[in-house]
Amino acid sequence: MFERILIANRGEIACRIIRTARALGISTVAVYSEADSRALHVELADAAVCIGPAPVSESYLRSDAILRAARDQEADAIHPGYGFLSENADFAESCAKAGIKFIGPSATAIRTMGLKDGAKRQMQTAGVPVVPGYHQDDDSDEAIFRAAEEIGYPVLIKAVAGGGGKGMRRVDRIEDLKGALDSARRESQTAFGNSRVLVEKYIELPRHIELQVFADRHGNAVHLFERDCSLQRRHQKVLEEAPAPDMPAALREAMGDAATKAALAIDYEGAGTVEFLVDAAEGLEEAPFYFMEMNTRLQVEHPVSEEITGLDL
Ligand code: ADP
Repeated sequence: MFERILIANRGEIACRIIRTARALGISTVAVYSEADSRALHVELADAAVCIGPAPVSESYLRSDAILRAARDQEADAIHPGYGFLSENADFAESCAKAGIKFIGPSATAIRTMGLKDGAKRQMQTAGVPVVPGYHQDDDSDEAIFRAAEEIGYPVLIKAVAGGGGKGMRRVDRIEDLKGALDSARRESQTAFGNSRVLVEKYIELPRHIELQVFADRHGNAVHLFERDCSLQRRHQKVLEEAPAPDMPAALREAMGDAATKAALAIDYEGAGTVEFLVDAAEGLEEAPFYFMEMNTRLQVEHPVSEEITGLDL
């Protein structure tokens, strides 16, 4: 068990981690920017270290300053919370090098799930179903045109580095493909500094259902049921429900198995969410479901699962 952990975050998530650590008898170190010196997480923690000025690029995203604080405070581990450095593989690697446990998956697991094309390829290999589509390295216009033809319209272009619905375009006819491809690439380059795309079948009546998973370093993984995030605006979640409405027990079991299989396939460790798209055109009994991506951290919406399980995630 850790004796002292540093929380590389602020706000609600930092306060919650401090509360749980305290209940487990673990002492806590907060970090804060000059703007947050009077914030609640600073007050609650056993110790607090100022790591820089207000802009997050000069404080909460400074992995060197955070590692220095962890070393000075003799913390055994760093909890990244969500956002900031939580999905930063380089940071996870730096922690490992410094002999400080990063509370979360390995840098390799973060990298594997970091890009949608590589993640889908890896999941296909592991036997987890993915949306029918094309996820290869060659994303030239010719390759995408050929793939779209084979998949059959409507198709969805997705930025491999995408997030928050950015770089995503539905295309209904071949005449619109070139324009959509160019604008998806442009948007993705601006937002993520990466213009690569993949193309997949557009599911006309989808349900977005994701599974909360936890895994340990000994090759064990469990799921804590699903959250339904089908209510969206511009491909962004608006509402989360658990359990998913009308979820058949057999589908829950099959998706739970697929989610833990996904985690085990990448030697996952810690909390994660495996997102699936369910093709609900013919109802949920027998509905096909496909891996979309995995968030390699605790999510902001994890309390929804805490409400149905009574567990402190
Ligand atoms: P991002 O990482 O940008 O949030 P996701 O891949 O998680 O993108 O997808 C976000 C949302 O877009 C999904 O919840 C779903 O509503 C929609 N979506 C994604 N893939 C498809 C698809 N193949 N067909 C139809 N809708 C999709």
